[in-house]
Amino acid sequence: MFDVQKIRADFPILSQQVNGKPLIYFDNGATSQTPQVVIDTIVDYYSRYNANIHRGVHTLSQLATDAYEEARFKIQKHFNAKHNYEIILTSGTTESINLVANGFASILQKGDEIIVSALEHHSNIVPWQMICENTGAILKVIPMSLEGELIMEEYDKLLSNKTKLVFCNHISNALGTLNPIEYIINKAHEVGAAVLIDGAQACPHLKPDVQVLDVDFYVTSAHKMCGPTGVGMLYGKEEWLRKLPPYKGGGEMIATVTFEKTTYADLPHKFEAGTPNICGGIAFGAAIDYMNAIGFDNISAYEHELLVHGTEKLQEIEGVTIYGPKDLTKKASVISFNINGIHPYDIGTIIDKLGIAVRTGHHCAQPIMDFYKIPGTIRASFAFYNTKEEIDIFVEAVKKAKMMLS
Ligand code: PMP
Repeated sequence: MFDVQKIRADFPILSQQVNGKPLIYFDNGATSQTPQVVIDTIVDYYSRYNANIHRGVHTLSQLATDAYEEARFKIQKHFNAKHNYEIILTSGTTESINLVANGFASILQKGDEIIVSALEHHSNIVPWQMICENTGAILKVIPMSLEGELIMEEYDKLLSNKTKLVFCNHISNALGTLNPIEYIINKAHEVGAAVLIDGAQACPHLKPDVQVLDVDFYVTSAHKMCGPTGVGMLYGKEEWLRKLPPYKGGGEMIATVTFEKTTYADLPHKFEAGTPNICGGIAFGAAIDYMNAIGFDNISAYEHELLVHGTEKLQEIEGVTIYGPKDLTKKASVISFNINGIHPYDIGTIIDKLGIAVRTGHHCAQPIMDFYKIPGTIRASFAFYNTKEEIDIFVEAVKKAKMMLS
């Protein structure tokens, strides 16, 4: 049985008042909240065994190294990577993408093509544009439909033997669209292109299996899935990680250094220069344990109920437009919407006074907003610790804001 009240008790932040009202946190797409076990893991690390890893012979350093490497195993197991050294710990999705983009700068030739989806977050657009500028590679875009879905017939037409890399998010942060990544990966492989999937918005809702997907790179951030900020991961197939050059130089990533030549450490350390976010990595492992204990099947089934309820309730408001797939099975628990004639920012500001946190704006996905010719949307993104009662209060608050602003 999914007991949401029991789950809510795991999150100390949820029991507070904001602006004199009980907090309703619907900005989970931006960052999720942190359960007590993850907070305890962080406190335990700094209270008991804070030390630098991989190079110390002393006891605390061994403890910290073991805990950090244990977290890597947890992440490997969670994503079903074949080897633990295929998991590179980074500062988050953005760094993971930049790491791969930087590596491809030495592979791409003038005239090569890379394909991006129209639904991307800026962090999966800008690094590739920078690489295209430096290499002469060409960026092509899979267009989207009015329903916020990628048009696969157009994708098929873009693919050719010039295509070297395709990248796409698993779930769109701006609209919640669940993209057909299996199709995207298979088709790219048919022309010999590699695929990077941005899982930042998918990992809070589902459990990807990188071997079943046969994906070349999969990236995510811990803070979207009950972990801390400043840590995330890159999964890369071994053959690709061996092929790509290191991204950052420094300590930890070397085998030998002389002034004439440096040789690099083996995977995964080749990509992990400098002191990493040790505590963050360990806490990322704890967050994965926590979410798995609840179970991703339970999480996605419950969140789907929230999505259906929220969509039905919001549609009762006159003048509301919800963006993204109409078929809610093609969507995560994200509702991106506008109210006719009202700026999203104004709604967000008024409902904040009522203790409700939502995101307003372009959600780092300006091309999507341009497509709809809107300045932005109001985005309510639900997590497994939210409730239908909270949604009802939120919808009433939006109605009130609408009345005030009309
Ligand atoms: N991609 C997507 C789809 C996202 O939603 C986000 C975070 N909003 C990112 C990438 C960037 O993640 P981070 O800021 O943790 O690097």
